[in-house]
Amino acid sequence: MIAIFAEKCIGCRLCERACLFGGIAVSGKTPTLTDQCTGCGACVSICPKGALVADKAQPGQIHHLEAYRGIFVIVEQRSGVLQPVSCELITAARRLADIRGVPLSAVLLGNNISRHALTLVAHGADTVYIADAPFLEHYRTLPYVRILTELIASKTPEIVLLGATTIGRDLAPRLANHFRTGLTADCTDLSIDNDGTLLQTRPAFGGNIMATITTPLHRPQMATVRPGVFTAEPIRTGQGEIVHIPVTECSVDNVVEIVRIEPKQKPAVSLEQAQVIVAGGRGIGEGKYFAMLEELAHLLNGEVGASRGAVDLGWIGHEHQVGQTGKTVRPRIYIACGISGAVQHLAGMQSSDIIIAINNDPHAPIFQSAHIGLLGDVHAIVPEIIRQLRQ
Ligand SMILES: Cc1cc2nc3c(=O)[nH]c(=O)nc-3n(C[C@H](O)[C@H](O)[C@H](O)COP(=O)(O)OP(=O)(O)OC[C@H]3O[C@@H](n4cnc5c(N)ncnc54)[C@H](O)[C@@H]3O)c2cc1C
Repeated sequence: MIAIFAEKCIGCRLCERACLFGGIAVSGKTPTLTDQCTGCGACVSICPKGALVADKAQPGQIHHLEAYRGIFVIVEQRSGVLQPVSCELITAARRLADIRGVPLSAVLLGNNISRHALTLVAHGADTVYIADAPFLEHYRTLPYVRILTELIASKTPEIVLLGATTIGRDLAPRLANHFRTGLTADCTDLSIDNDGTLLQTRPAFGGNIMATITTPLHRPQMATVRPGVFTAEPIRTGQGEIVHIPVTECSVDNVVEIVRIEPKQKPAVSLEQAQVIVAGGRGIGEGKYFAMLEELAHLLNGEVGASRGAVDLGWIGHEHQVGQTGKTVRPRIYIACGISGAVQHLAGMQSSDIIIAINNDPHAPIFQSAHIGLLGDVHAIVPEIIRQLRQ
């Protein structure tokens, strides 16, 4: 985006100081753009010698939209285990591909992972691209980015989807930057319009609105989606095409070496997997009343969740928080006790099968999302439910 004419540079470093992003570094009389360069041009206007010039789009950078076709889901495995978000994304992408009438491909990198191809096909992938090699056993940024950019550049999918996981959050921006395209992180919904524009919905402006974001001029259109937002559904037993991608290790891949992998302790709270969640908010009055919710959760074989309001008051740990800055859950039953139903809370639980709201305010927004509303004091209703369940 910025062309450098190093022979004109006098080493004054004005460009370095003008850049708010650390996007340019000058060593001696040699300016170099860093990964942080946004192409804003602040360095161009300040350079007294014309050593920096805003580069108009090169013919190769113009995105010919019609040249892109199909959907890619970048599949995630950890220690050889397929991560649930991948099948969730493939199920959702299948619907988009059917509307659009284009093929859906899953892309899987790892070591000894070919056995997962059938699962990916069962969830709706027409083609599974597999890069299977020992050096890909554990995720490392550089080799994964290298292999995926080569594949995407050669197959030119119009949409690329990844999980909003730690791996997806590392990988997706690098791919998007490589292709100079847009990326919408943490989408809570995806749909597609008639001309193939991906409608990427996510909370915006501090979660106060749900924004639908599009990438009208660039391809591929890229989005990440958190685990649990979509439901994985195996839809068929038919055969898909399995394509093995030949891969070789490069010296640059080993800039980062994995010395040891320590598995994370299994979290004490497993909200994402829970079938029943009893969640408490500020309306329960005091932290000690979470014991009452724990009792109800225990009777229903469920877990205890919380609003951020309750977490911020220190009534319960953040690992229990549901919502935009907490966990995204999709239980069969979600019981919201004394939770108002702010949009940021809804973003994490509105896909629950049955939402039961207990609130003493008939105008509480939670009632608009609830399938069953119990209007009244949480301290009267919850003990009564517990009593009846015990009976
Ligand atoms: C960027 C950002 C991210 C956020 N992320 C999250 C998030 O991830 N998760 C989240 O939850 N919030 C999040 N929030 C905060 C969110 O906006 C709300 O402030 C929060 O959800 C409110 O928590 P609450 O419903 O417990 O409290 P309140 O809004 O105070 O609601 C309490 C409710 O309890 C009811 N009530 C009171 N007494 C009783 C009673 N005795 N019996 C029955 N009902 C009673 C009241 O009528 C009221 O509806 C975020 C906010 C921002 C700006």
